[in-house]
This record gives sequence, C-alpha cells and structure tokens, in this order.
Amino acid sequence: MTIFELRKAYHSSLDNIRGWLGDSSVSGKLTALDRLSILDAWHQEMVEFFEHHGHCFACNRRLDRCHCPGEDRWPE
Ligand SMILES: [Zn+2]
Repeated sequence: MTIFELRKAYHSSLDNIRGWLGDSSVSGKLTALDRLSILDAWHQEMVEFFEHHGHCFACNRRLDRCHCPGEDRWPE
C-alpha cells in the first residue's frame, strides 16, 4: 500500500468517525470522556495501520526514514 492510499484510508476513516460522533442519535448518550477514549482508540488504530504498512502516521515517511520522537504521534 502506498502512502497515498494510506492517506486516503485515513481521511475516509476520519470522515466516518466525525460523522458518527456528530450524529447525536448515535453518540448523543456519550460523555466527553467516552468521546475522548473513542478518539484515542481510533488514533491508536490509525498509528498501527500506518506502521503495519511501513509508514509513520505523523510524518508520513517510510518507517526507516522516520525520526519522530516517542509514540505520541499526531499529524498536522
Ligand atoms: Zn515519523
């Protein structure tokens, strides 16, 4: 999978979760903490998805060229 395909998958997944969290009939009963843990789990999944396909989630470089510090990566 190329970085372009990964980015595309990321954006459609982001749209999904935003739509889902924005739909009060689905997520209306969630607390702010629920939402945070859902986003956190989703973030972790994305990081693993990118790494599984050999890319860094934060800088989008191949893992062998990535110099990002730590695990707490988040894209611009
Ligand atoms: Zn990186």
